[in-house]
Amino acid sequence: MNRNEERWMKNVREVTPYVPGEQPQKSKMIKLNTNENPYPPCPGVRDILDHVNAADFRLYPDPDAKALVQALARYHGVSEESVFVGVGSDDVLSMAFLTFFASDQPVLFPDITYSFYPVWAKVYQIPYRCPKLDENFQIVTEDYCQDEKIGGIVLANPNAPTSRSMPVKEIQKILEAHPEVVVIVDEAYVDFGGETALPLVDQYSNLLVVRTYSKSRSMAGIRIGYAIGNPKLMDCLRGVKESVNSYTMNQLSIPLGVASLEDEDYFQKQVRTIVETREKAKEELTNRGFQVLDSHTNFLFVKHEKKCAEEIFHELRQRDIFVRFFKKERISDYLRITVGTDEEMLTLYRALDEIL
Ligand code: PMP
Repeated sequence: MNRNEERWMKNVREVTPYVPGEQPQKSKMIKLNTNENPYPPCPGVRDILDHVNAADFRLYPDPDAKALVQALARYHGVSEESVFVGVGSDDVLSMAFLTFFASDQPVLFPDITYSFYPVWAKVYQIPYRCPKLDENFQIVTEDYCQDEKIGGIVLANPNAPTSRSMPVKEIQKILEAHPEVVVIVDEAYVDFGGETALPLVDQYSNLLVVRTYSKSRSMAGIRIGYAIGNPKLMDCLRGVKESVNSYTMNQLSIPLGVASLEDEDYFQKQVRTIVETREKAKEELTNRGFQVLDSHTNFLFVKHEKKCAEEIFHELRQRDIFVRFFKKERISDYLRITVGTDEEMLTLYRALDEIL
């Protein structure tokens, strides 16, 4: 750093950013590293794109994204006032951290979880503490029920990258223990077999459930996420969002998000296919010497009995098969493998047979 840089750097907010999985730009690759859905979104999404009029882009979108909010409210059987939408669940979660964690007490989330949580905590200068998952990578409910001052709680259920889920009755115990703080439940993967906390929203005004279109709805590229919770919570969220950016949802994402909700058959069928492929993959990987954790997500968290995860990761990468490896305490023996199509998974097994 030169002398001039040193002067102004004193006034700069410096953060270590979240590092997403790589997005290689290759035409022929098998991409099992960021938990995307291998199938296209429903045909209704395509139909909307076929009728896009680019001239409409000169206008700003509806700042309230009302059509999408109404469709989500109908879909989940809640009031419109209970729904908040954002640019992927990352945007919703980031706004929720900024809105609800204004206390000087620590926010709690597990030591192994979505690694964006500590990044938001740092950028917004929110103190936090990370109770350890148990040796089976399960959340220990009691750690979140202590009689202590805290600033909030964030739980991914099912959790990532571990793929494990916790019963909603455990979340209820946590809500009972800490009515004085907001509890965020990140349900990015819930459609693949987790148990949703949505039925608790009426009963607990401090519960915020966050969902995404990026996984089960095959729309990671369109960036839609949403939260459901008590209308008062939503008012607070909207207040902060409107103090940062009025137009978060772009003009196209609003009708595309509505169209996805209108094809329930397609949605259910696709989710079922992924779950079936996942269960088959569990068997195939177990047969090849992997220990595979029970998954309620669209990915598997696996550890090989002999070969180290980092080596397998690199050898797969050389074959243009991308999986996720985290060089982090407690999980550096594991690989996270997104469930792809049956064909993609076959190529993965063949590659593993060579490598192992
Ligand atoms: N929560 C969890 C647990 C995730 O794994 C992800 C995906 N990286 C997200 C939230 C964010 O997803 P998106 O912003 O695409 O909705």
